[in-house]
Amino acid sequence: MTPDVEGSLEISQEWLKENTKRYAFKKLEREIIKTEVCVECGLCVANCPVDAITGERVDNKYVPQLTGKCTSCGICYAMCPRTKILPEQLLGEYKTIWRAKRTTEGGKRQDGGVATALMAAGLRKKSLDAAVVAIQGENPWLPETLIATTEEEVMSSGGTIYTHTPIVAGMMKAFREGDSKVAVVGTACNLDAITRLQIHTAGYLSVDKDADVTKLGLFCMESFDYDRLKTYLKDNGIDIQKVTRMAIAGGKFTVSDGDEQHEWPVKDLDVAAAKSCSYCHDLTAKNADISCGNIGSDEGYTTVIVRTDKGEKFLLQCVKEGLIEAEPLEEKAIRIIGNVARSKATKYYKMKPVH
Ligand SMILES: Cc1cc2nc3c(=O)[nH]c(=O)nc-3n(C[C@H](O)[C@H](O)[C@H](O)COP(=O)(O)OP(=O)(O)OC[C@H]3O[C@@H](n4cnc5c(N)ncnc54)[C@H](O)[C@@H]3O)c2cc1C
Repeated sequence: MTPDVEGSLEISQEWLKENTKRYAFKKLEREIIKTEVCVECGLCVANCPVDAITGERVDNKYVPQLTGKCTSCGICYAMCPRTKILPEQLLGEYKTIWRAKRTTEGGKRQDGGVATALMAAGLRKKSLDAAVVAIQGENPWLPETLIATTEEEVMSSGGTIYTHTPIVAGMMKAFREGDSKVAVVGTACNLDAITRLQIHTAGYLSVDKDADVTKLGLFCMESFDYDRLKTYLKDNGIDIQKVTRMAIAGGKFTVSDGDEQHEWPVKDLDVAAAKSCSYCHDLTAKNADISCGNIGSDEGYTTVIVRTDKGEKFLLQCVKEGLIEAEPLEEKAIRIIGNVARSKATKYYKMKPVH
């Protein structure tokens, strides 16, 4: 059968117009070629509809170069295997996205208090036996894991602790102690560990069919190393023991101690970032049943990405019972999340090559 070249090209042009039109070859050159992220496959050269790109041999490397007139159609950028442009690469698969907050008073919360409200509702209705959460330990801001079995315990776990927490160890302890329906809240890296246990043939969750886990993801640009965060704050005249709240929102890292509030651009905190975070490309916890963050929503609200049937059932039940109020997030706000996700997913463009 003769391929329908004209029809296919039309569909392709339409997609480019919506997504990458105005992405000139210069963008590909700046982000991928000059940084040596390029894999020298020649796709951009072969796909340029006006033959404006040539693969030149430079120092025994195949380097795409602009030798004709770029029309900024964006196909070279869209097709490059190293660019992050597809919606599923940025936000993962999802069913719906909401701007939400819990309606109940009391307890603690970071944003709209949705993460805690979902777990508390599950415990009350006994659709969950336990919820594994992070709480402040003996050293404030160095988290410990709590296997919460009451609404009160979950509600008082609200708020964000910006350091890694061994949440998966807590989950396994809950299963060993006899719980079978367990919710776990954590960042993408923690949920990836749980997903490994679900999909690997030897993983506990793929073997024990009675073990049922609900994964509540938290958006995360980066987590911090406790000691380096403490030092960063100390160098800025702040005693971590006296800090009452930390928050990352709108590109700012904010710390409150007593009545005072201190604020820095998040990138100033790179010195305190956990080294393991440089391997992570996932802002929104793509492996979650439901992901929660603040990007895209107003202050006091949680952005909620529903990804699975299980996540959808959890959220809609809480909305139906009036525990959470939620409205669909508008497209503009979803694009903002996509842009931030992209900046995380492409940070490796700026990494130094290993040699
Ligand atoms: C390290 C880190 C970085 C983050 N960075 C961003 C960001 O860049 N942009 C953004 O939009 N959102 C970020 N978040 C998520 C955000 O801070 C809120 O957690 C999210 O919006 C949910 O708010 P909420 O009011 O619904 O949650 P709440 O109802 O307050 O519940 C939060 C739950 O998270 C648990 N928790 C707190 N800290 C941890 C931890 N370290 N590990 C595992 N569980 C924990 C608590 O135990 C609690 O149960 C980050 C979270 C973490 C942990």
